[in-house]
Amino acid sequence: MAAKDFTNDQARLLILVSQLTKPAKSRHEEETWIKKIPLMALVSRGIQLGIFKTYDFAPILVEYMDTTRFASISKESEDDIADLRSVGYVERLKLATSHYVYVSAYRITNKGLKAVAGLDKTHHEAVSKILTCKKCGHNQSIQAKEDAPYLMCKRCESEEIVDIFYIEEVSYFTSPMFSDIWTPTD
Ligand SMILES: [Zn+2]
Repeated sequence: MAAKDFTNDQARLLILVSQLTKPAKSRHEEETWIKKIPLMALVSRGIQLGIFKTYDFAPILVEYMDTTRFASISKESEDDIADLRSVGYVERLKLATSHYVYVSAYRITNKGLKAVAGLDKTHHEAVSKILTCKKCGHNQSIQAKEDAPYLMCKRCESEEIVDIFYIEEVSYFTSPMFSDIWTPTD
């Protein structure tokens, strides 16, 4: 899959990953990864903002901060991440939680960065809307807090919750719902 064959949403998803993560340029430099749930939270925000036009989300049980909850997850974006991994644009790391559940983290690769540099300016502009601070226009970073991921602005010190979790307690649901429990296969 060459960059020119990307769908608009694949291009934007790759740009989003590139804005949040980085490969190490030398042995002394740190790599930055993003865990799946904060990434999926930003994808959901992107869907709500109309930036991902073909994605939709549905409630899926996920593990976050050692608790199980329903989150808005876009299945199409999961598939696209898998496609981007298969061509070497995105790298995955599997991390074990204290509950022995594996969570995935993702990082752009150098090959991915090259592809991103060649992507249309309109895609870059669209993706920047997901991360831009509403108050001051600065680029925000994402931070996983106890209740949800938050977008944090270093410049004006504002923060904004990224809605991904459903309010309902998982215990209200009957057992057949749990057959849908989400396992990170990609
Ligand atoms: Zn700000």
